[in-house]
Formats: sequence, structure tokens, C-alpha cells
Amino acid sequence: MTRQTLVAGNWKMNGTTDSIAELMSGLLSGLDQTGGKQAQVLVFPPTVYLNAVVDQCRNAPLGCGAQDVAVPESGAHTGDVSAAMLADIGCTHVLVGHSERRADHGERSDLVAQKARATLDAGLVPVVCCGETLEDRDAGRTEKVVGEQLDAVISQLDEAALARLIVAYEPVWAIGTGKTASADQAQQVHAFIRNKFASINDTIADRLIILYGGSVKGENAAELFSQPDIDGGLIGGASLTAEQFLPICQAGA
Ligand code: PEP
Repeated sequence: MTRQTLVAGNWKMNGTTDSIAELMSGLLSGLDQTGGKQAQVLVFPPTVYLNAVVDQCRNAPLGCGAQDVAVPESGAHTGDVSAAMLADIGCTHVLVGHSERRADHGERSDLVAQKARATLDAGLVPVVCCGETLEDRDAGRTEKVVGEQLDAVISQLDEAALARLIVAYEPVWAIGTGKTASADQAQQVHAFIRNKFASINDTIADRLIILYGGSVKGENAAELFSQPDIDGGLIGGASLTAEQFLPICQAGA
């Protein structure tokens, strides 16, 4: 089946009110000009800017998600933001299990699974991130590591929930390093992920959007996105300026 390409910009902890206004204005005018000829596009701003960005995305060919979510629905959890709050302000997607959250905050796959569940319960779409370190890859453990990260989430969800997931394969060694996985390397892992879902349900596997992330740029996006199991990208550094991000969105057209 043909899956629509999705390009998602993860702004991480970058930006100011002014720089984000400039980036949004560049994106909105660039995406408008290309009309329907581009991928579905999402941006993931830092939490404090979510409200402003969500407002600007209304009636625009652009959606907005959060970079993280807390598991509890509400209550005495100082500093946390719930999925219900994200849904309330108009977010549609949440990144869960990004390797920087796993590294900086010690997030383990069982917590990632709970975050995916909380996101789904609030009616939002979790983008479940997975990926191996260079050490894992060199030791031939890529599929084992990625498989275990995904199994932790999959085992907690029924088929109706699985049908709503997006997966982002992001080799840790390729994130922010300028080293992109080759199209063949990425395709191999994407096929492994799709097969894993196919062992549960063929239709879910067929419809599953699997993004590649790790130093995607305008120059390598088209080759990556043309692979049969790569359905778009999760873009960090190159999503921080409209000049760099728009050509990637257009590569997914
Ligand atoms: C990311 O933030 O998920 C990412 C892939 O970053 P970069 O594109 O900068 O490698």
C-alpha cells in the first residue's frame, strides 16, 4: 500500500520567541507555496512555545506535537505536563523514548511504553523512537536492541492501539553527528521493524509509518525516503531553519 510521507521537525531545546516566530513564518509561507505537493509536516517545539506554535498551525498545512509527556493524568507532579494538557491545547502527536530522553533522564523502555499508553489514552499519536548505539551496531546487536525497545511498547498495547502508533528509527550514532545511516542500512532496520509488526497483524504493519532520523538533510532526504520501508523523517538540526527544512519536506512529496 502507499503510505503518505511524513516529515517531522524536532526542535529539541532550541529557540526563542523571536526565532520561533521567524521559523514559523518561513515554514508557513514555504509550505503554502508548494500547495499539496509535500509530505505531511509536523513540528515539535519546546514545551513553553507549544501554545503559540499550535495557534499558528491552525488552518495551515502543518501539525504540532510535544517532545515528551508525563504518565500521570494530573495532580502533584511538579514540572510535568500531561497528555490531556497537550490534547487540550491542540497538540496531535508526542515523541516518546527519544534517545536524548533515554540518555539525559535515564528513561527506560518500560517508562516509554507507559508514555505511549498515556498519549494514546488522551487521543494523541505517539511517535515511538528507537535506535542502537554505535557500540551496539559494531557488536551486531542492532536488531536485538531495536527489537527489545519496541517489544516493551508493543507488549503493553492491543491491536487497536498498535494501529495508531508511528515509529521513528533513529540510530543514536547518527543523531546530530552528521553521520547518516546509508539508505541500505536504514532500509534494513525499517524492514525488520515492519516485519515485527507483521508478525502481529499484516494490515497494521502495512499501514505503519516508520520514520528515519539521524542527520537527515536536503541532500540525502530523497534517497532515504525512496526506500520501500522508509516513510519519512524525524529531523533535528535541519528543522531549525526554513531554508534547510523545506527542501526535506519537498523531498517527501
Ligand atoms: C533528532 O533530533 O531526532 C535527530 C534525528 O536529530 P538530527 O537530525 O540533528 O540528527
